Amino acid sequence: MTAYDYVIKGGRVIDPANGVDKNADVAIRGGRIAAIADDIDPGQARQIYDARGQVVVPGLVDLHVHVYDKVTPLGVDADERCLRRGVTTVVDAGSAGYFTFPGFRHYVVERARCRVLAFLNISSIGLAGAGLGGDDRVPGELESLKFASVEGAARAIAENRDVIAGVKIRLSDTVANGGLYEKEAYRRALRLARETGLPLMVHHAFSTVPLAECPGLLERGDIYTHCFHGFPSTIVDPATRRIDPVVWEARERGVIFDIGHGQGSFNWTVAEIAISEGFWPQVISTDLHSGNVDGPAYDLPTVMTRLYHLGMPLVDVIAAATIAPARAIGWDDRIGTLGAGRAADITVLAIEPVDLDLEDCQSQLRRIRERIVARAVWRDGVYYPCTLPNPWPNPMSISRQRSTWERLVIRDAEPPAPAPF
Ligand SMILES: [Zn+2]
Repeated sequence: MTAYDYVIKGGRVIDPANGVDKNADVAIRGGRIAAIADDIDPGQARQIYDARGQVVVPGLVDLHVHVYDKVTPLGVDADERCLRRGVTTVVDAGSAGYFTFPGFRHYVVERARCRVLAFLNISSIGLAGAGLGGDDRVPGELESLKFASVEGAARAIAENRDVIAGVKIRLSDTVANGGLYEKEAYRRALRLARETGLPLMVHHAFSTVPLAECPGLLERGDIYTHCFHGFPSTIVDPATRRIDPVVWEARERGVIFDIGHGQGSFNWTVAEIAISEGFWPQVISTDLHSGNVDGPAYDLPTVMTRLYHLGMPLVDVIAAATIAPARAIGWDDRIGTLGAGRAADITVLAIEPVDLDLEDCQSQLRRIRERIVARAVWRDGVYYPCTLPNPWPNPMSISRQRSTWERLVIRDAEPPAPAPF
């Protein structure tokens, strides 16, 4: 009779919430973490995972993804693209609104092996059409204010409180009838969040809502995603190339700034300006969707790699992809840390030497020397091997994204080099 189902042996265990950073073994039994100790007898284990030279961390939590696969154009498969890249919990950022949430719950939340939670879109149709053929040719989710029903959304939240962790709105002129309804929809989303006691996650780019109102009207615990984009509505003032004081005030108030990398929303230049002022993101997330999953976002370990390259200490990178997002949705009593008795959501990462140019969302390149990859993952104690994006980086994606450089208001002095083909 063996005592444990698995022992993950000899890795560097980093559990930021508990202040743990040491070489140790982690034992799993019955889907739960049974023990973390310096040297667990391998004879006690049914199976051993050799984690020497690797980093053992709480199961990664991705606060911003789109996994309403086959129903919304942006949807990707949560197990293939998230779990198999080391992510044990994802939070879908508004793919469903209250009209479409029952399907999301039935077909995604209840079937995925990855733990799936959600921000409910203030729009009743969620992202039913988003990403189909370009935003200006398809009606946005806030094309009519009839789609923004606080009452309908509040009812869905009450019925799905175990899964819905927040409210989502996209503030861009193209999704709200040329900007006509942005402010009113934003007002309703804020009201819904306050009435339900949930955080509001805001996407804010190419918006008619000024920084003075977003993040200006956000409160402690609300989430400003896509925080390092370089398009109009960026947190960096184009005149001074410094972070707008309103953004600093929001941060001091307790607003959470989240990467939400996406297809267009991560810019090396903005990130470098922010970090030079000491403005680090609290949460690292992907905004993974069908338009960025083969580049430029790829997966959560790639987005973590970018912040690690920028000088974020490894322990902080891990925290921003585990305990910080867990806290942001009020789930830190269940996920985001390692500890005896907890559900065995565990990820093994490797830090590999590389020497290559990694792109941002507008094909600007930076030379990186180290890469974070996921090697193995356990969700409720069940083991899954991990996969890697291929190709990585993807020349097709770099080539495709290059034309968006023209639309940036914060960017490098020189345009990115022409694509090789
Ligand atoms: Zn998104």
